[in-house]
Amino acid sequence: MATMAPADMRRGGMETQPAGDLRVEPFDQFNQELVANVHPAGWVNPEPRERYHLVVIGAGTAGLVTASIAAGLGARVALVERYLMGGDCLNVGCVPSKGIISAARSWQTATESHRSFGGPAVSGPGDFGAAMARMRRLRAGLSRVDGAPRYRDLGVDVFLGEGRFTGRDTITVGGRVLRFRRAVIATGARAAVPSIPGLETTGYLTNETIFGLTELPRRLTVIGAGPIGCEMAQAFARLGSAVTVIDRGTHILPREDTDAAQIVERAMEAHGVRLLHDATVVRAEVRGGERVIHVQIAGRTEEIAGDQLLVATGRVPNVEDLGLEAAGVTYSRRGVGVDDRLRTSNRRVFAVGDICSKYQFTHAADATARLVVANALFFGLGGGKVSSLVMPWATYTTPEVAHVGMSEADATAAGHRVQTITVALHDVDRAVLDGQEDGFLRVHLKQGTDRILGATLVAEHAGDMISEIALAITAGVGLGKIGSTIHPYPTQAEVFRKAADAWRRTKLTPSAKRAFRTFFRVIG
Ligand SMILES: Cc1cc2nc3c(=O)[nH]c(=O)nc-3n(C[C@H](O)[C@H](O)[C@H](O)COP(=O)(O)OP(=O)(O)OC[C@H]3O[C@@H](n4cnc5c(N)ncnc54)[C@H](O)[C@@H]3O)c2cc1C
Repeated sequence: MATMAPADMRRGGMETQPAGDLRVEPFDQFNQELVANVHPAGWVNPEPRERYHLVVIGAGTAGLVTASIAAGLGARVALVERYLMGGDCLNVGCVPSKGIISAARSWQTATESHRSFGGPAVSGPGDFGAAMARMRRLRAGLSRVDGAPRYRDLGVDVFLGEGRFTGRDTITVGGRVLRFRRAVIATGARAAVPSIPGLETTGYLTNETIFGLTELPRRLTVIGAGPIGCEMAQAFARLGSAVTVIDRGTHILPREDTDAAQIVERAMEAHGVRLLHDATVVRAEVRGGERVIHVQIAGRTEEIAGDQLLVATGRVPNVEDLGLEAAGVTYSRRGVGVDDRLRTSNRRVFAVGDICSKYQFTHAADATARLVVANALFFGLGGGKVSSLVMPWATYTTPEVAHVGMSEADATAAGHRVQTITVALHDVDRAVLDGQEDGFLRVHLKQGTDRILGATLVAEHAGDMISEIALAITAGVGLGKIGSTIHPYPTQAEVFRKAADAWRRTKLTPSAKRAFRTFFRVIG
């Protein structure tokens, strides 16, 4: 195991960070390839220009997209990254998590094939180390696109080091001063770690360390039942860990439709995950080599013993040590304050991505980065407001839960009268044939019209399928038009057409039905 990052690259906010230097582990050929792209050893920062059109702090998705678009349009751009370019998504987020989820799905399919499809019988443990090595290999392969050499070739001045404002139009990095016309803060977020007595000495994993595992934990305890907790709990259960999830709420995935969450709960339990709801962690301790979590649940205290503990209790913004006061940028526990055009309290400084967004997704970082370039450099020409974006999202459990637009509660609060259409996946032939009928589509319409306000889809590939509704809302296409679009048979996407058919049936008033009956009587 090698330490990749020097001590001065430690992230701020010690209270919510695991102790010690950030490392890329194991430091095998794949992680060496990753580091060679996203934080090359011996990288020499360029000589700063006299003044930049744009300085971007943070080279996660938000910062990378901002920098590459601005440089592509001819602006003088500096990009500052203290750790790994690519940020959370590439290094410790979407990419490694979806790599592991793919492995877990494939293991599950192999073991269920015999029982469900009469396939060859498969038994015995899989090779967890090989699954993790595959993920590291694929991540390394993807890392070139986010790497420092590529950004240099795109015309961006890449500075590796901690960026910090020293005034309203200056940033320092590695002892050099970068002057700017505009700056963009894209420093992202990190795992929030709750203050639980004993937790620091017990030791725990977060998304920053779990992807470095090379051995499967026999027992994994997960604190938190949001998207990250649920995705990892289900994946590790399928890979063979005995997983317990401690959830302080009454159901998992609190932001999602309750019926959707219940379907995912059933699937997780079927994969062996133990879910504890309404549970409060009281303290943690190490006992006889085990990590023991004391949990208060239904008036009694229960001890959960595990080999590894994953803390997945939300995210906190990286606002510390940025010199925001010197720049006159206001911020809070929720992140940097921005208006609808992503401008901060300093008119020269904008923010984008997880540091300021209620949508903490890679595609949200990408979409808002496009707005920020126009808003910051072109006086808003070609830009726009965050509130005008149609934002889909997905949780990559099995089945997946995807959502776009408003929930019924949001729509009602916004003053709409709402008509809701629900189609169960067991009414969709392809879902039945695939053995994936535990799911549904729920569409919220503006009452009396076919205008789609929002939708939730629970299906094996809901994350891919939801784009049809996202496109419809974005382009102002109603459910009626989706119903007259021919969908190939048999596909799970037929669920959209079926929702349109169901809506049409609701339009058939009793008098219209009577008229049709009379017509058929007359023609015999
Ligand atoms: C486990 C997990 C799974 C996820 N899965 C998905 C998914 O499937 N789909 C999806 O859409 N989203 C997913 N996300 C969310 C997604 O990763 C984030 O929304 C996205 O990475 C946000 O990008 P960003 O650029 O705003 O921030 P980040 O990616 O966090 O990048 C910020 C960068 O700023 C750098 N930085 C911070 N401070 C400084 C400083 N002072 N000087 C220089 N550099 C600094 C950091 O080192 C970091 O590289 C997942 C997140 C996690 C944790």
